Amino acid sequence: MWALRCPLCDKESVVRVPPESLLERAADLLGISPFRCQFCSHRFPAVRWGRPQPGHVVERREFRRTPVQLALAFTGDQVRGEGTIVDLSIGGCLIRSTLHLCVDDIIYLRVALPRQESPLELAAMVRSVGSRGIGCKFLRAAREDARLAEFLREQEEESARSGQA
Ligand SMILES: [Zn+2]
Repeated sequence: MWALRCPLCDKESVVRVPPESLLERAADLLGISPFRCQFCSHRFPAVRWGRPQPGHVVERREFRRTPVQLALAFTGDQVRGEGTIVDLSIGGCLIRSTLHLCVDDIIYLRVALPRQESPLELAAMVRSVGSRGIGCKFLRAAREDARLAEFLREQEEESARSGQA
């Protein structure tokens, strides 16, 4: 048995995701499934048989989400506001704000990170607006942001540590 690694960044933090295209669905039937790296967001096909991890459970969400409390300022085409990020992944975030945003709005986020002087700057698209908050999907450059990936990795390690304590 061997752990599956991301071919791009060589990390083992890889999750099997649902097939999307017809080709992916056909390949999935033959045992080759799409996987998504949780570190660099790279999506790639791999043989799933004999993989101890991530197993045969298909995660509904493509990215592991981390609950956070991060202060945020954002600007859009017509808007400028502040809020809090309550849930963060390499693929997007959930924002609480009193400001009204619309689905498909593109916004630029400045996120204050603990212990860091300069804010994280990310571009995102609003995907949903509901009672839980404003759901945003990061644009490609944001998904490849090394500081975001590093922050999420730290959070994961911290929660693993506190889980053991
Ligand atoms: Zn990767």
